[in-house]
Amino acid sequence: MSDRDPSHELRVSKIHNGTVIDHVRSGQALNVLAILGIDGSNGEEVSVGMNVPSDRHATKDIVKVEGRELSADEVDVLSLIAPEATINIVREYEVVEKNRVERPEIVEDVLSCPNESCITSANEPVSSRFEVLENGIRCHYCDRIIREEIATLIDA
Ligand SMILES: [Zn+2]
Repeated sequence: MSDRDPSHELRVSKIHNGTVIDHVRSGQALNVLAILGIDGSNGEEVSVGMNVPSDRHATKDIVKVEGRELSADEVDVLSLIAPEATINIVREYEVVEKNRVERPEIVEDVLSCPNESCITSANEPVSSRFEVLENGIRCHYCDRIIREEIATLIDA
């Protein structure tokens, strides 16, 4: 099948109201769902396209979530694992907003540090704080660097 096949657009169905996260790096769709806290148990209507042919790269993943618009915090964390993603907000089947994710310099309060001896892991009134690096994040308090496991650290 060629890259220009228009049926690719139809492979993942259109949504009515919600968010389409496009240009997710191949293999990251499930991590995107993990970051959004979506496991299907709340009845959300979610479509996932994996290894869909893409113009920019050979393939990409797409995640479509019906009935939910992403918060700024969620977009920040998303940028850590899907730096090239575009966030499309859809209302009444129309894209009303299209944003590239931007990597923040600091991520606060959203992730938990995996280091058990980190002060943020103790019962201290300290919010988590991570500096965003080129290829990962670093805990402001214990300097632990996290690269692959970001999606598992979301503070539920
Ligand atoms: Zn830490």
